[in-house]
Amino acid sequence: MTDSIIRSVADLREIVAGWRQEGKRVGLVPTMGAIHAGHLSLVSIAAKNCDKVIASVFVNPTQFGKNEDLDAYPVDEAKDVRNLTDAGTDLVFCPGKEEIYPNGFSTVISVSGLTAGLCGPFRPGHFDGVATVVSKLLLQCLPDIAVFGEKDYQQLLVIRQLVSDLNIPVEIVGAPIIREDDGLAMSSRNRYLSPDERRVAPEFNRVLTDVAALIKAKPDECQNICRNAREELLELGFASVDYVSVCDIETLELLKTYRHPARVFGAAYLGASRLIDNLPVD
Ligand code: AMP
Repeated sequence: MTDSIIRSVADLREIVAGWRQEGKRVGLVPTMGAIHAGHLSLVSIAAKNCDKVIASVFVNPTQFGKNEDLDAYPVDEAKDVRNLTDAGTDLVFCPGKEEIYPNGFSTVISVSGLTAGLCGPFRPGHFDGVATVVSKLLLQCLPDIAVFGEKDYQQLLVIRQLVSDLNIPVEIVGAPIIREDDGLAMSSRNRYLSPDERRVAPEFNRVLTDVAALIKAKPDECQNICRNAREELLELGFASVDYVSVCDIETLELLKTYRHPARVFGAAYLGASRLIDNLPVD
């Protein structure tokens, strides 16, 4: 336990109000803990842009599906708080479940359109859970900026949309994906990969990178190239592939013919672990 942990919205508001009176600019980095270098890169972006940085650590139950890994999600609060504070976080907000979802909680924020494709159909309810908890965290903290990773690119766009639609006075800052040396996007779930799976995992980014190069050369072949990529992943040992798709970077419209600006998106299971990744075509 350190002084930099707080658990109640009332304490959070009091501290942020004090900072505001001193004219400080405040940044928020929402996380689900299991902190790694990807999260810490968001903290450093917030620290560069703000006088005070708050990180939240809350494993949000409403964004996990029934058969997903909520119960297995890694929790080590003391280590997370140490890593976050070492990286320049001033305050770590670790609310209990009842603080976020008190008895009788009845509101859901649901963003349509952007959630229709990619992870949306494969994770019913997931983006409602994300949109609801992020709306709450933003309103509890009322930061000047909040930083989110492009690792969860669809989530980043959903959050930009809800902030605009609900007139929440915060700037949403997107942060580049931090990768291991072999290209695997860092993720809290990577620790569940067996040694064999860990060896295969970087192929995911390699296959998506190949898709980006191939569609630039043959823009009309988007669908074939993505289908071949899905087959290649299965041949490499991925258990199943939810999607490999090329989409417009703002609307996430699925592109049958590549046009700039687009990103390649993928989600696939390696053993029991679901990997997601994406990258710009240019
Ligand atoms: P999570 O704890 O997985 O909910 O992630 C919290 C925040 O960290 C989200 O904005 C993620 O997009 C971001 N994030 C997770 N992994 C990475 C990564 N490898 N690079 C950059 N940001 C990341």
